[in-house]
Amino acid sequence: MRPSKFGFCLLALLPGTAFAQQPANDHLLSPGNLSQVAPHSWVIRGFPNIGIVVGSKATLVIDTGMGTKNGQIVAAVAQRLSTNGQKLYLTTTHYHAEHAAGDGGFPPGTVVIRPQVQQAELEAEGQKLIDFFSSRSPQDRELLADARIRKADAVFDREYRLDLGGGVTVRLMWFGAAHTKGDELILTEPDGVLFSGDVVQNKAGPYFYCDECTPKSWLAVMDHVAALHPRLVVPDHSAPGDESLVTQEREMMAFLQSRIAALKTAGQTPAQAADTLTAEVHEKYPGWTGFTHLDQAVARGYAEP
Ligand SMILES: [Zn+2]
Repeated sequence: MRPSKFGFCLLALLPGTAFAQQPANDHLLSPGNLSQVAPHSWVIRGFPNIGIVVGSKATLVIDTGMGTKNGQIVAAVAQRLSTNGQKLYLTTTHYHAEHAAGDGGFPPGTVVIRPQVQQAELEAEGQKLIDFFSSRSPQDRELLADARIRKADAVFDREYRLDLGGGVTVRLMWFGAAHTKGDELILTEPDGVLFSGDVVQNKAGPYFYCDECTPKSWLAVMDHVAALHPRLVVPDHSAPGDESLVTQEREMMAFLQSRIAALKTAGQTPAQAADTLTAEVHEKYPGWTGFTHLDQAVARGYAEP
């Protein structure tokens, strides 16, 4: 399928239709799960969803998949889409193993770019996540057996603008701590596709994976994200959707932040507050998954002045 023939069809990507997730326990990516979501933007759906943005001179891959074998699968798809034999760039939404531990599968000469904060977090914490996943399943252990923590070829502070040629540019952005300290969000232009990592999900509760990751810090990140006005949002572990995903995530985070502050003022213990909040979100957000870490949200929120 060539980019020019593709009709942009968001409906085909909504949950329950063509974008159904693969079985939760299968962490091997499949080239057959490739979809074109905009003229220059592609997704391999899986664990996690992988982004590929193709210009006339260069191609950017967003996230590696878990381990070298997945990295090889992703790199092969990216090279197949790169009809001019162009340069390959790789970036990662955050340091967790399914996002960053497959760079060994990319060909020599691939240029790896990520936020400085994420690189430091990867070097400090990355092995822990590789060990964690390896302990969880035989498949993950096998996939991660030769995973190594690597240096990026280029790091940036807040934003890196990449010109892929043919009028295709990509903004790589770091706005602060949300799911992790080094979360990166990636906006493709002119496609208007936002690869949102774990920062904006589709009806999935948040997971706060650093001490600096609080409802307040996540909300501050969402203020930046809201200003981007993407046409399509591609989260890493849930189905794509339109800009309403950003609005929905921001609203949910504002709710958590304000309720945690109110429960703290009301004198509830952290355990009581977590129970209260869990009951409230199940009432307020029916059909959402993953509100299983609200004790973390409360602990982080209570620790804030
Ligand atoms: Zn993650």
